[in-house]
Amino acid sequence: MATRIIIKKSVMATVSTPTSAPGNAALPPVRRYHNFRKTIHLICFLIFVALPFSNLMRFDIPRQRFYVFGQELWINEFAILFFTLMFLLFGIAAASMLYGRVYCSYACPQMIFSEASLAMEDRIRRWINKHFIQLSPAVRTFASRFLFYSTGLAASVFLAFVFTSYFVEPRDLLSRLLTIDIVTAGGIAGAVTTLITFLDFAFVRTRFCKMICPYGYLQGMLSDKQTLLVVYRDSEEKKACIECKKCVRVCHMGIDIRKSPFQIECIHCGECVEACDDVLAKLKKPGLIHYTWGEQGKMLGAKDEPWYYRIGLRDPKRAVVSFIMLFYFTGLMIALSMRHPMQIRVQPDRATLYTTNAQGETTNKFRFNIDNRGSVDATVAIVLESSQKALHLTTDRVALKAGGSVEQTIEVATAPDALAPGVYPITLHTTSEPGGTKASFPMTFVMPKQK
Ligand code: SF4
Ligand code: SF4
Repeated sequence: MATRIIIKKSVMATVSTPTSAPGNAALPPVRRYHNFRKTIHLICFLIFVALPFSNLMRFDIPRQRFYVFGQELWINEFAILFFTLMFLLFGIAAASMLYGRVYCSYACPQMIFSEASLAMEDRIRRWINKHFIQLSPAVRTFASRFLFYSTGLAASVFLAFVFTSYFVEPRDLLSRLLTIDIVTAGGIAGAVTTLITFLDFAFVRTRFCKMICPYGYLQGMLSDKQTLLVVYRDSEEKKACIECKKCVRVCHMGIDIRKSPFQIECIHCGECVEACDDVLAKLKKPGLIHYTWGEQGKMLGAKDEPWYYRIGLRDPKRAVVSFIMLFYFTGLMIALSMRHPMQIRVQPDRATLYTTNAQGETTNKFRFNIDNRGSVDATVAIVLESSQKALHLTTDRVALKAGGSVEQTIEVATAPDALAPGVYPITLHTTSEPGGTKASFPMTFVMPKQK
């Protein structure tokens, strides 16, 4: 009886749509996860498609550029690149620690496309059976397979295009696709990705999650007695399960959650929770499958728990992990916002300490290496500071295209008899436009003895 009361409380906390019938308010509410998951899948799919085209997340291999949150990182900014990738990795691990396999069930592209493929195959089969009932079963099977593979191939071309766009500039890739380029590296990569996507879409699907994906195995290492699980709870003495097996039929992973909540195939999608609720609601009973914090723990959303317990901060470990991720994210954002689009390096050319230019002036050369990591054309203005008024620059401006690099030699010059022999401290000041970022480079000017 106590169990019944807890179930009802929890159900009310997590329910999205109560089942109701006119004149009968006693029916238990049904927890809805299917439509919620499908909505999240759609949002994730749209994000997956949008990311490479908006440069929010893309690794341009030919140009060796990494785009993250709209910023263009160069390969020489490896530290930020590394910490960004580590953040994504830690984010998935932290989510697993807090909410179990939430990534698998809600955001993993493999799972999203596997479920879409299974749903599409099922719909095509039912549509053919409904509209071509006059044909023999063998012909209908052939027709539904043919239609499914054709649709799968078209979807694979699109998905492979989007996936390859994460690594090759999308417009460049589109032109390769339209000319059916299977000769260049980008074209070959696109063609191979299409083939792999099609095989995955048509044949592999959730088998990948069950047999190949290491994440399911890692989840076991990350979980503890507070990890969010999908658990079957029934009374030993008075079993409420009616053995309808709907929970097994709806499971894309093909398992029976009643055997154990620790089956490695279970992605905690909650489809069986909704299925059992649906079945038992008709008998005016609460469902027997629940999201719980650990095998013996409270149910998800139990209202007699503090709010921080309900959002997953159930012990100091989880609070610390959440704080670290927040701290990490803030640091990453600060690092990204502080990077300057213009990177300038200046070195004196000491291969020849000094030289004489066409005007007969004595000069020292300074090599400027400038990277414009911004998205607009830019100029760098150079100003010489020195106590010696006789010194001057032969060039005081360098122009760069957006995303371009320049190596340019700038000369500091003086008339041959304007200075006594010696070494004079100078400073080269640079100002980048647009942005107005300033930098200063202390150098020396070497004045030789005149012959
Ligand atoms: S759906 Fe519920 S009642 Fe039916 S077999 Fe599964 S656990 Fe038992
Ligand atoms: S057992 Fe339930 S929660 Fe686990 S994968 Fe199957 S349907 Fe999803």
